[in-house]
Amino acid sequence: MADDQPPTADSPKPDSIETVVVDGLGLAKKLRGQMADEIRELVEAGRRAPCLVVVLVGDDPASRSYIKGKQRACKSIGMDSAEHLLPAETTQAELLALIEQLNADDHVDGILVQLPLPDHISPQVVAAAIDPAKDADALHPNTSGRLLAGTADIVSCTPLGVMAVLEEHGVELEGAHAVVIGRSDIVGKPVSLLLQQANATVTMCHSRTKNLPELCRMADVLVAATGRPRMVKADWIKPGAAVMDVGVTEVDGKLVGDVDFEAAQGVAGIITPSRRGIGPMTITMLLRNTLHAYRARTGV
Ligand code: NDP
Repeated sequence: MADDQPPTADSPKPDSIETVVVDGLGLAKKLRGQMADEIRELVEAGRRAPCLVVVLVGDDPASRSYIKGKQRACKSIGMDSAEHLLPAETTQAELLALIEQLNADDHVDGILVQLPLPDHISPQVVAAAIDPAKDADALHPNTSGRLLAGTADIVSCTPLGVMAVLEEHGVELEGAHAVVIGRSDIVGKPVSLLLQQANATVTMCHSRTKNLPELCRMADVLVAATGRPRMVKADWIKPGAAVMDVGVTEVDGKLVGDVDFEAAQGVAGIITPSRRGIGPMTITMLLRNTLHAYRARTGV
C-alpha cells in the first residue's frame, strides 16, 4: 500500500505495533497516593483536611452509586466529604439556598451537585450559583471562561483525566494533530481547549461532521466522547495513534466504549479501555480540583 493511502478495513494491521492498554486505575492510584501525602503533610502541620460536599437531588440509583464512589475516593486520600441527599421534590429555590449556605461555609472547599437534576431545576442556574472558588466539578461559567482564556486552575474532571493519561504515557502533543469527537461542555469542548493549549492542532468533530473516518485517520491523538458504542472502527485509527476512549455506554449489561477496543489492538499505539480507563481518572481529578480549591482559598 502506498504511504499516502489510508488504511481500509481489509488492510493488514502493521505487525510492529504492540498496543499499550492504559491502566487508568493504576495511574489514578498513583496520583491519589501523591494527594494523600500532600493532605497528610497539611494535617500534620496542624491544618484541617480539604472537604468536598456532594449534593444529590432525587434518588436515582446510578447517581447514588456515583456519589458513594466519590466519597470513598475522598476518604481514601484523607479528604473530608459530606453529602446532602435531597428529595426529588426539592424546589430550585431550596437547592439554591443550600448552595448559598455551602458557599459561605469556610470549611467547604469543593461543591459538587450531581447531574442530572430533576426537570424542574435548571442545571445552568445551579451551576452559576456555586462559588467559582469552590467549583470542583468545573460547571460554573466563570470556570469555562478561564479555561478559554488559558488561566484556569480548576478544569472539567474528565478532560483533565485525559491530559494526565497522555502525559503519563509521554505522548508528544506539540504539533500533533488531535481529533476530538464530541463537543459537549463537560468533555469535548474543554478537552479540545486543553489539547490546543498543549500546542496540538485540534479538529473538533460532532454529529454533523462530514468524512469523520477520514478525519480520524489523520489523528495522532484521537479522543472519542460521543456515547455511541464501538462507533470508531479499527480502520479509522492511524497506526500508532494515542486513542482516548471517554465514552461509556451499557450494552447488554456490559460497559462499552466509543471505540471498537478489540479491533483497535495492534493498530493504536496506546488506548484506554472502557473500564479502568478514563473513569477512575475523572474521580481523581475531582479530588485534584478540590485540593487545588483548598490551597487557593487558604493560601497554603
Ligand atoms: P453528550 O451527549 O453531551 O455529547 C455527545 C457528543 O457526541 C455531542 O457533541 C454529539 O454531537 C457527538 N456525537 C454524537 N453522535 C455522534 C456521531 N455519530 N458522530 C460524531 N459525533 C457524535 O455526551 P458527553 O460529552 O457528556 O459524554 C460523552 C460520552 O462520555 C458518554 O458516553 C458519557 O457517558 C461518557 N463520559 C464518561 C466519563 C468518564 O468518566 N469516563 C465522564 C463523562 C462522560 P452534537 O453536538 O452534534 O450532538
